[in-house]
Formats: sequence, structure tokens, C-alpha cells
Amino acid sequence: MSKSTDTPGDRFDVVVVGAGFAGLHLLHRLRGMGLSVRVFEAASGVGGTWFWNRYPGARCDIESMEYSYQFSAELQQEWEWTERYATQPEILRYIEHVTERFELLRDVQLETRVLRAAFDDTRQRWEVETDRGPVSATHCVMATGCLSSAHMPDFPGIDQFAGDIFHTGRWPHEGVDFTGKRVGVIGTGSSAVQSIPIIAEQAEQLTVFQRTATYAVPAHNHPLDPGHQEAIKARYPEFRAANRQTYLGFGSDYPAADEAATEASPEEREARYQERWGHGGLAFMGAYRDLLVSSEANESASKFVRGKIRSIVEDATVAELLSPDQVLGCKRLCVDTGYYDTFNRPNVSLVDVSETPIEGLTERGLQVGGSEYEFDAIVFATGFDAMTGALQRIDIRGRDGLALAEKWARGPRTYLGLGTAGFPNLFIVTGPGSPSVLTNMLPSIEQHVEWIADCIDHLRANDLHCVEATKTAEDEWVAHVNQVADLTLFPSCNSWYLGANVPGKPRVFMPYLGFASYVAKCEEVAARGYEGFALS
Ligand code: FAD
Ligand code: NAP
Repeated sequence: MSKSTDTPGDRFDVVVVGAGFAGLHLLHRLRGMGLSVRVFEAASGVGGTWFWNRYPGARCDIESMEYSYQFSAELQQEWEWTERYATQPEILRYIEHVTERFELLRDVQLETRVLRAAFDDTRQRWEVETDRGPVSATHCVMATGCLSSAHMPDFPGIDQFAGDIFHTGRWPHEGVDFTGKRVGVIGTGSSAVQSIPIIAEQAEQLTVFQRTATYAVPAHNHPLDPGHQEAIKARYPEFRAANRQTYLGFGSDYPAADEAATEASPEEREARYQERWGHGGLAFMGAYRDLLVSSEANESASKFVRGKIRSIVEDATVAELLSPDQVLGCKRLCVDTGYYDTFNRPNVSLVDVSETPIEGLTERGLQVGGSEYEFDAIVFATGFDAMTGALQRIDIRGRDGLALAEKWARGPRTYLGLGTAGFPNLFIVTGPGSPSVLTNMLPSIEQHVEWIADCIDHLRANDLHCVEATKTAEDEWVAHVNQVADLTLFPSCNSWYLGANVPGKPRVFMPYLGFASYVAKCEEVAARGYEGFALS
């Protein structure tokens, strides 16, 4: 076990930014190595995503038995999930349980935002400035989250609106009661798809503003059968190992098919899509192996979903508006409970803002195409400055004062998503260039935590002080990430994976496709003495 060389106070072996699933696991792992660690978290509680996103209907779209930590056999045996897809309150209770069980809170400083982090070349340390004062550390780990930086469109007149404004990613803790209210929802991504059916039940009138129609497959959520839960627990290690071997890190019990849609008959395809639709959830994308590489294959699946939309939505004009024309799955597939059905309600209407964008807010509501829509409350379900937003909001400086924002001005550049050249001893958990948001995030987070901890352990065991991605390794990795993405249909639509949802953000496909191959690559790099990293 490595021994701490720093005395806690304002000097630490490791500073971790963020107390979501990633930051908390890091703390547990690094503390177990005998290191002094301080976690800074801007929120008033732990949980990250599950602390902030308290909008009605917020829940997981990965099944509960898979969306949990696997680092402790006892923990995964003792926790009981209640539903196929866990709700936000249940996931937050789980995270709080973990925090208590492993006594993590004593090393977490809540309500503290990290503003700056600069590498001091002379002292070979990170100087970290928070809104509550400075600290320094040998290593700095950014566990700031891929989807933690809420994106609020810069509409003129926001300050003029007399009603209430909410963002799904910053939902009030006391909850919101929309009973008797006229509500506008902007956006039709996953957060909107989950919240719209519930807001519609409460509100007197709900108007949804849609810029891009979305594909949603039914969740078919249900209480978790205790027998099913026990059966998985009885083989949890094998179950986890099988999931790790999959392309996206989940779903080994209902795996992606090996066949190609382009080689199946129309009848076979229809039956296959129907079966996956009946099963529910993201497994729909695994109906055929070529859905995200062949336009013809993709069109067969998207046509099936459009047919479903037409069969659910009674008004043909509304059904047409709700029917997407982009590639299925190139924006994250939504998993819904009654989303399309909601548009059959008499108190729900849909406004298409694809051709006539929202002009701005007024004192009474929203202005679109010269018409004013009056509301008591407006919900921004407008997503996140994904993958780089939270990092770029910190002034991060590497060697010679190099600013990360400047280095990444034309898109993020990392080696394996874990490190970036010019920034020694800085690690990123699920950073751009790693599979992260394309996978079940929990195994992705755990894999990064283990890798980072092992790397720090290796340095200390070998009396080394610094680890830094080389520029050559980084250039090659960035090129590889792009090559892999270019083999797919992902770059074809304006998704947040490409930064296309944030005006002015460089258009670069940020995550890496392929979990199992990525894990193998990380293991190989470590086994070869951290190949592609300079150790000194
Ligand atoms: P986060 O949970 O985002 O935590 C990062 C923390 O860092 C935040 O608490 C933030 O406040 C803090 N922070 C950031 N910057 C600073 C700073 N400068 N100073 C101090 N603190 C800072 N993934 C799945 O795999 N399956 C799902 O079903 C799923 N559902 C999701 C639903 C929603 C609504 C959202 C938004 C995301 C979902 N995700 C899902 C992705 C989810 O973000 C991850 O699964 C996971 O929770 C990320 O954990 P994390 O610790 O990496 O980041
Ligand atoms: P999102 O997918 O980015 O959706 C944002 C929505 O707001 C889009 O419909 C977008 O339209 C719209 N929008 C943004 N700016 C707009 C503007 N100026 N005018 C009109 N419309 C605008 O964000 P999200 O729904 O919060 O989801 C983000 C990610 O978090 C998901 O993809 C998923 O990974 C995760 N998540 C998961 C779940 C779950 O089911 N477990 C739930 C919520 C979130 P365009 O499409 O045209 O850009």
C-alpha cells in the first residue's frame, strides 16, 4: 500500500472535483491506498446527476441490476432495487447509502466550487483554487461529469418573464406542483420525454416546443421480481463480467444480435423489431448489428418506430410532426413511459420550432413566429454542454500556463479520454475520447477509477512523480476515435455527442465507440508500463 506523503490541511496527494458516482468511488479507492484525498463538490449533497436532476419522471434507462457499483461484493448483495428502471430518488438513496457505508463524507467538501487548477512546474504540484480558498495536490482528478453542465439557451427576454423558469438539470429540491398551471416545455430529448407525461397529468395546459422530433421506445417498467433479483445476485460476478464483454457494457442477458438487418427479409425484420419493442428499453438498438452503420438497415428500424408513432398518436398531423426523419440512434435513443400517448390528451399541444425558432421570452410567455404563448411556468429541457462543459468552466492550466480551453478550442484532445498532453498528473474520469456516454456509465466510471488508482500506485511504487500523455499518443488516439466514428452513422445528425446542441461549440464526435475493445486497450497500455504516457 502506498503511504501518503502529504499531511491533510491544505496539501493533499489527490484533489478530486465532483462527488457523483465517479468522485465517490475514487475517494474510496484512493483512501484505501493510504492517500490523502479531498473531494470538492459544488452541490449541497453527494450524487451528481442524481442530486441535480429531480424533474418529474427522472429515472434510469439502464436496468437497475446493472446500474450500480460492483467494487464491493457485500454492497451489491445487500442493496435491494425495487423497479426494473430505478427512479432518481431511489438512485440518490443508493448513493447516500454508499456514502454512509464507506464513511466518505468526512473527505468531501460540499458547497465548494473549483474555479481554477494550475500546474506549478517548479513544485510539480496542482494549485487548486476553490470559492472557499486554495489547496494543493500532487494529482488532480476531474470527476466533473459528462452531463453536469446545464445548457440554457441564450433567449432574449429571459429576465422579463413573470412566471417560473425551471431547467430539468437544476430542479428545485422541494419539487414543483403544476396543478392548474399553463406550462411550456422546451425540448424533446430524454429529460423532456420522461417529464412531459407527468407534467401533462398535473398541468391545466401543456405546450411542448419541439425543434427535432425524437425516437422513443417503451420502457415497460415494472416492479422488480424478487426472484429475478436473487437469481442475478447469485451469479453477480459472472453477470458483470459478461456485461463487460459487450459492445456498450450492458445487456448481456438480452444481447445485441449478430445478424444484419440488410440480410433479413422484411417479415423477419418486422418480427424482430416487434419482439424488441415488446421487451422494452435500449435493447431495441441491438435488434441487428448494422443499425448504426448501414443507412438501409437504419431506415428499416426507424420506419418501424414511425409506424408505432402513427398507431399511437390519434391526430395524423401531430403524429407526422412527432415522427423523426433523422437516423435512429444517432441522437441518444429515448426510453419512455407514455410519451407519444400524452399527445392524445386534450390539454397537450405541440409547437414545431424547427423552421421558426423560439424568438425569446416575454413578460407573459414565449414568442414564436410572431405569436405569443402565455404560460405560468416554462421548463427548459434543453440538455447539457456535454462532455467538455464542466471541464471548460474551470480555468485549467497545464505546463507553461497552457489553458485547457485554448488547447481544446477546436475540440477536445485526449489520450484514452484519461489524460491530455501538457497537463501532467491530471486525470479525467470518462473524458472525451473514452466510451463514457455511449455505455452503461457505471462500469465505465469504475474502469476509469481503477485504472487511475492503479496508475498512481504504479508511480508511487516506482518512485516516480509525474505521468503525462505524450503528444504522439494523443494525436494517434484522437485520429482513431474519429476514424471509428466515421465508420458509423453517428456523425450524420446534430447531436450533443458532436457538440451540435451548443452554439459555437466545435463539431467533433467526442465519445469513443466500443467498450470491450477500449478496456482491452487500457489494460494493454498499463501492462506495457503506461505506453503513450511519459513517466518521470
Ligand atoms: P456527475 O454525476 O455528473 O457528477 C459530477 C459532479 O461534479 C456534479 O455533482 C457537479 O456538481 C460536480 N462539479 C462539476 N464541476 C465542478 C466544480 N467546478 N467544482 C465542484 N464540483 C463540480 N447514465 C447511464 O449510464 N444510464 C442512465 O440511465 C443515465 N441516466 C441519466 C439521466 C440523466 C437525467 C442524466 C443527466 C444523465 C444520465 N446518465 C445515465 C449519465 C450520468 O451522468 C452518469 O450515469 C453518472 O451519474 C455520472 O456520474 P459522474 O460522477 O461521472 O458525474
Ligand atoms: P438533450 O437530449 O440534449 O435534449 C435537449 C432538447 O432541447 C432537444 O430536444 C433540443 O433540440 C432542445 N433544445 C435545445 N436548445 C433548444 C433551443 N434553443 N430551441 C428549441 N429546442 C432546443 O438533453 P436531455 O433531454 O437533458 O438529455 C441529455 C442526456 O442525458 C441524454 O441524451 C441521456 O444521455 C441523459 N439522460 C438520460 C435519461 C434516461 O432516460 N435515463 C433521462 C434524461 C437524460 P435539438 O434536438 O434540436 O437539439
